[in-house]
Amino acid sequence: MNLLPIPQCNPGLSYLEHAAEIDATISAVLHGGHYILGDQVASFELEFARYCEVRSGLGVGNGTDALEIALRAVGVAAGSVVITVSHTAVATVAAIRRCGANPLFVDVNFSDGLLDPDQLDQVLEQAERGLLGFDHAQIKAIVPVHLYGRCADMPRILASANRNGIAVVEDCAQAHGARISDRRAGSWGVAGAFSFYPTKNLGAFGDAGAIVTSDAGVSERCRLLRQYGWKHRYVSDVEGGNSRLDELQAAILRVKLSHLDDDNGRRAAIARRYRAAIADTGLEGPEPDELHEDVFHQFVVRSGKRDQFQSWLAGRGIGTLIHYPVPVHLQPAYLGRVHVAPAGLAVTERLAAAILSLPMFPQLTEAQVDRVCAELEQWHENAEYP
Ligand SMILES: *Cc1c(COP(=O)(O)O)cnc(C)c1O
Repeated sequence: MNLLPIPQCNPGLSYLEHAAEIDATISAVLHGGHYILGDQVASFELEFARYCEVRSGLGVGNGTDALEIALRAVGVAAGSVVITVSHTAVATVAAIRRCGANPLFVDVNFSDGLLDPDQLDQVLEQAERGLLGFDHAQIKAIVPVHLYGRCADMPRILASANRNGIAVVEDCAQAHGARISDRRAGSWGVAGAFSFYPTKNLGAFGDAGAIVTSDAGVSERCRLLRQYGWKHRYVSDVEGGNSRLDELQAAILRVKLSHLDDDNGRRAAIARRYRAAIADTGLEGPEPDELHEDVFHQFVVRSGKRDQFQSWLAGRGIGTLIHYPVPVHLQPAYLGRVHVAPAGLAVTERLAAAILSLPMFPQLTEAQVDRVCAELEQWHENAEYP
């Protein structure tokens, strides 16, 4: 029996699995002599847009930039307010702040960690009635985060946003290929922002990101913002910056995109095994839902004894992580500097203390999954462990 530790994730194995294909494309790009915004980027943009079932894609430097550029393109600026969740990667909030805007946090569902649409409606109504200390008109965007590979409740969120005349920009960094009501992550809002950080479902071997949209105006504004505001080379129409995707990462992403559905299928198969293994343990995990097609960026369980459970698993060689241990509104950089919905963030705070991400990557072997499942079955939430 192989008792080597099982890591929580391992992006290097994704390279090894496709090494021949990836080495060949890297070599071709290097010999081609064109390294920034060339054919590879243009082709990847088309292929990724088609994958997301939208009209256009735009490669950028990373996922945080993708969010910032998309938010700026829909009119988020200094003094704006952007509604989002505190139970997310800090990148979501960093992007909002980089626009000069402030987040307004609403609470999430305990069952899946995603934006609670009732809380959204409540805070929009409070904004309308002038109860929040800023104007309803300052709210320029809503950023639902499709955390762990499951889409937030986009039909309801979009309906609320439309009623209020507010743009929706989806944070799709953990949801490449996920669907709700048969529509892909990134195709619901006016724009979707993706990260291709190496551990994501679609990962580069460096930093990379993309914006997808079916809105021609938003697409064009994002294109200008990506490169110095240039409509024509060397002449800035608007003030922009530099957030370009390079040819090497785009070429690698084209190879990886051709394997994404297969990789997501392997993640889903591992998730089914985990779900069965925790059934009698008292641990809670993601429940299947017929509206959702999840891509299991993470498989997150909830335990009333999370810290004990984590060290118990570590003692058995099972690697885990916490996504995320401190809600953004409680982090030193943001404490007291962000808006929190009057109803508070009790669920967010309770969730942060209960969650644990099990090993999850497509290359987990059958034997490794067996071992994780066998250990999970040993745990009983109400038992006492030394
Ligand atoms: C990874 C991630 C981002 C940011 O992506 P980077 O490419 O690291 O900038 C944004 N939001 C969420 C939810 C993420 O998981």
